[in-house]
Amino acid sequence: MPVKGLGPYDANNIFARILRGEIPSRKVFENEWALAFHDINPQAPVHVLVIPKRPCVSFADFAAVAEEAEIAGFMRAVGVVARELGLEEPGYRLLANMGEHAGQEVAHFHVHIFGGRPLGPMLARGTT
Ligand code: 5GP
Repeated sequence: MPVKGLGPYDANNIFARILRGEIPSRKVFENEWALAFHDINPQAPVHVLVIPKRPCVSFADFAAVAEEAEIAGFMRAVGVVARELGLEEPGYRLLANMGEHAGQEVAHFHVHIFGGRPLGPMLARGTT
């Protein structure tokens, strides 16, 4: 079910529980700002999620409230993860779903990293 992407943070959302180590994940990276782990339902040969440590519902929330150091730390972490996954040379796609129209399902801000094959058009065609 898509979430609103705005509003109060639910400390029991699935990614909050992964951050606390209550639910296992296939971790690929962690530092002060971010945690990265493989998506449980991959949509490409490489499909990794990067989440900030700060509890934020969505991109809109994170962009509005995070400190500069958190934003920089998070963005750098996304770059490091993609590089460490070997995706820089072939290329990769970043995606962040925000709210209902984007189909955001987990209300903790996350960036998807997709790679490992040509990824096709940016959005499904013929549906404008
Ligand atoms: P969204 O639609 O919110 O942008 O993406 C949520 C993503 O989280 C989906 O790609 C989904 O497969 C992934 N996901 C949902 N639950 C879990 C989980 O328990 N573990 C992992 N690793 N990924 C999850």
